[in-house]
Amino acid sequence: MSLQLQLQWANDGLCSIMEVDDDTFFAIRGSSTRRGKAICRMCPINEDCFKYSLDYDMEFGVWGGVEQHSRDYIKRKSNQAVSYTR
Ligand code: SF4
Repeated sequence: MSLQLQLQWANDGLCSIMEVDDDTFFAIRGSSTRRGKAICRMCPINEDCFKYSLDYDMEFGVWGGVEQHSRDYIKRKSNQAVSYTR
C-alpha cells in the first residue's frame, strides 16, 4: 500500500481543511502546539490519527492531539504492561 493510500483517511482531518501554520502541530523553535492540540480535540478522526502515530512510530508533531513526549510515555507504559504479563 502506498503512503498516499495509507494517509487517505487524513483528508477528513481538520488540519487538511483548515489553514494552519507549519508550527501549529510541530513545535518549531520553541513555539507552542496548544492551538494544534485544540484543533485535534475537535477533529472527527482524532482517534485514527493517534493510532496511526503509534503504529508508525511518528517521532515529531501533534497527532490526534497528543505530542511526542506523551506518545513516548504511553509507549513506555504499554511496553511495561506487556512485559509484566509475560
Ligand atoms: S487529529 Fe489533529 S493532526 Fe490528526 S488529522 Fe485531526 S486535526 Fe490533523
